[in-house]
Amino acid sequence: MDEREKYQLIIVGGGPAGLTAGIYATRAGLKTVLLEKVSPGGQIINSEWVENYPGFPNGISGFELGQLMEQQAVKHGLAIEFVEATGIELQGNARAVKTSSGDFVADAVIIAGGAEHARLGIPGEEKMVGKGLSYCATCDGPFFRGKIVAVIGGGDVALTDALYLSRLASKISVIHRRSELRASKVLQARAFAEPKIEFIWETVVDAIEGDGNVRGLRLRNVKTQATSDLKLDGVFMAVGTKPNTGYLGAILKLAPDGSIPVNAQMETEVPGIFAAGDIRQGSIRQVVAAAGDGAVAAMAAERFLTQR
Ligand code: NAP
Repeated sequence: MDEREKYQLIIVGGGPAGLTAGIYATRAGLKTVLLEKVSPGGQIINSEWVENYPGFPNGISGFELGQLMEQQAVKHGLAIEFVEATGIELQGNARAVKTSSGDFVADAVIIAGGAEHARLGIPGEEKMVGKGLSYCATCDGPFFRGKIVAVIGGGDVALTDALYLSRLASKISVIHRRSELRASKVLQARAFAEPKIEFIWETVVDAIEGDGNVRGLRLRNVKTQATSDLKLDGVFMAVGTKPNTGYLGAILKLAPDGSIPVNAQMETEVPGIFAAGDIRQGSIRQVVAAAGDGAVAAMAAERFLTQR
């Protein structure tokens, strides 16, 4: 392939962390390219409504927030390339990001590739994706108008999904493995007040059942070990996230949960490689925190480049 121009900074991932890093880096005059696999905006584009990002007193749709961040970064001169990063290696003093369409080379790299939906790994899960099993309520909820569905999980995403689905589905069972939710109190209060939402406590899903399409779940009470079947039309999985670091094992030592250890400056163990947002160890996985990480990482990268 053709020789590519060399950048000062490569940002991997176009969510709030990567786009904010892009805004700071381009405003600091760094020649920067952001590599994005699908479309900029990150996980937030699947959030129907974001109420806790400052500056929007009435909230804003996640899709619009992602688009605004992208527009702002591009306005300041950020180049965006739609490629998938498959590895990072040191080439002398430079850092090369391997991608689906050749190498991108720069003096510094910020890894901001976020996280993807965790899977349970239970029978039926793999084959039912798109056949009644979904990991995105705002994407697939409208297919379940008037139907009976379940949400698996007890975090913010599970309750946000259940509340969104309560405007479409006829009944939503939230299945949680403990007797207390992990979700924020404000979401808990809304979900408890919604008559279409019922909670099935201290219960796990052992299998997703169906003949081509989801027809039910095999449940197991974790206290009594009693099993039961729950008949339904659709199931939404909301059991957390997993950092997108599968391609980084050769260059970085990852934390046991797969996230990237960093210091307070978002520096990894490798000089000139930074990590920001949901992908880094200890992230609180909030949009505003990811944006903050992106700013810290870009300023640290600028310092690194100046010192060289
Ligand atoms: P999360 O907070 O990690 O919650 C995951 C849920 O899935 C937990 O309730 C967990 O149960 C359950 N779970 C995990 N593994 C399981 C398994 N093997 N079997 C059964 N249940 C399992 O993840 P999340 O809800 O995806 O949220 C991710 C991050 O995004 C959070 O930091 C959240 O605050 C943030 N977020 C915030 C908002 C908002 O502020 N409005 C909206 C969306 C997301 P346990 O509780 O027992 O561990």
